[in-house]
Amino acid sequence: MKHRKLEPGRLVIASHNAGKVREIRALLAPFGIEPVSAGELGLPEPDETGTSFAENALLKAHASAQGSGLPALADDSGLCVAALGGAPGVYTADWAETQVFEGGPGRDWYMAMGKVEGKLAELGPDTDRSAYFICTLALAWPDGHQEIFEGRVQGSLTWPPRGLLGFGYDPVFVPEGRSETFAELDPQEKHAMSHRADAFRKLVAALFS
Ligand code: IMP
Repeated sequence: MKHRKLEPGRLVIASHNAGKVREIRALLAPFGIEPVSAGELGLPEPDETGTSFAENALLKAHASAQGSGLPALADDSGLCVAALGGAPGVYTADWAETQVFEGGPGRDWYMAMGKVEGKLAELGPDTDRSAYFICTLALAWPDGHQEIFEGRVQGSLTWPPRGLLGFGYDPVFVPEGRSETFAELDPQEKHAMSHRADAFRKLVAALFS
């Protein structure tokens, strides 16, 4: 398949999630790309109304490309737990949503991890604890062209949560072949094996080489 190359220059990261923006900046650093976040440009965050990771990533990428006149990269990611039929899946962030307070809705990752654990516990002590993180990257240009890449990392869920690094569900996710959770691993190590890194390897091979 023929891909459109990404020229050095400004690229909008179509995310308002500080953890993701930080990781994407680090992953793009070697390619002459100047990442600027949608938040910094004051671009609105579209509602994630899609029913798949790809749909949501495309929604966010196109909204930022149209709003800024620059190419825009969006990441839609989540945790899929085998015994829960792939849940929370596209609703991974929603499971962390807390009540609406004066300052707007908040996110409580410990509550979200507890919800996943509660559902696994209901299924009994011998339940399959395997899960994967998935990352779908969508790149959109102001003229409407789009490219899409998907990455995964397989692992299993542990309880209680361990580690203070990373973000989101990192403290309960143990990647295959390791004993530490993503939140206990050095960020460099996580970046080398994560779902986002896998998707980025595919993006880099297609768009920069
Ligand atoms: P969305 O892509 O903004 O809809 O959110 C997906 C959610 O999945 C994030 O807010 C995180 O909670 C979770 N998630 C995605 N990637 C990671 C990761 O690398 N570590 C931990 N949690 C993640």
